[in-house]
Amino acid sequence: MILDLRSLFANDKESLPLDCQFDLSEVDFFGLYPLKKPVSVKGTAFSRAGIVTLSVVCECEYTAPCDRCGNTAVKIYNVPIERVLVSELENDENDEIILIEDYKLDLYELVYTEVVLAMPNKHLCSKDCKGICQECGKNLNDGPCGCATKTGDPRLAALRKLLEDND
Ligand SMILES: [Zn+2]
Ligand SMILES: [Zn+2]
Repeated sequence: MILDLRSLFANDKESLPLDCQFDLSEVDFFGLYPLKKPVSVKGTAFSRAGIVTLSVVCECEYTAPCDRCGNTAVKIYNVPIERVLVSELENDENDEIILIEDYKLDLYELVYTEVVLAMPNKHLCSKDCKGICQECGKNLNDGPCGCATKTGDPRLAALRKLLEDND
C-alpha cells in the first residue's frame, strides 16, 4: 500500500488519517504463521512546523503454541510506529527518520518490517504457565501430577528458579 504524502509536504497542519488492515498471515516466524488475522493499522500522518510525522499503532493478534505447555495461546500485541518522514536526508541516518522518494511511502513494507521485529521471542499462555511435567507429560496448569513432589538437586532447582525469573 503506497501512501502519497505530497500534500503533507506541501502544506502545514495537514493530516491524513490512516485506518487499514494488512494480511501478514504468510509471515513465517520460526516455522509458525502466528498472524492469522489481519493486522490492523491505525493512526495518522501529519505535518507540523515543516515536519512530517507518521504515527500509527499496529494491532497484531498472535496465535501460537505456548512455549511451555504447548496449548494454543492468543495474545494481542500493539506495535507503535512513530517516524519522521523526510524527502531529502540532511543529517546522518537515524532510525527514527525515513527517507521517502517522490513523497511516497510504502506503508505495508514498513508495517511488515516493524511487526516482524516486534514479534515475541517467547510466547506463553500466561506469565505463570506451569508447563508440562518432564516426567509424565501432564499439563501442570490443569493441576499437579504425582511426580511434582520429587525435587531434584536443590542447586539445580535454584538455577531453574533463576532462569524462570528471567522469563
Ligand atoms: Zn502455557
Ligand atoms: Zn508428572
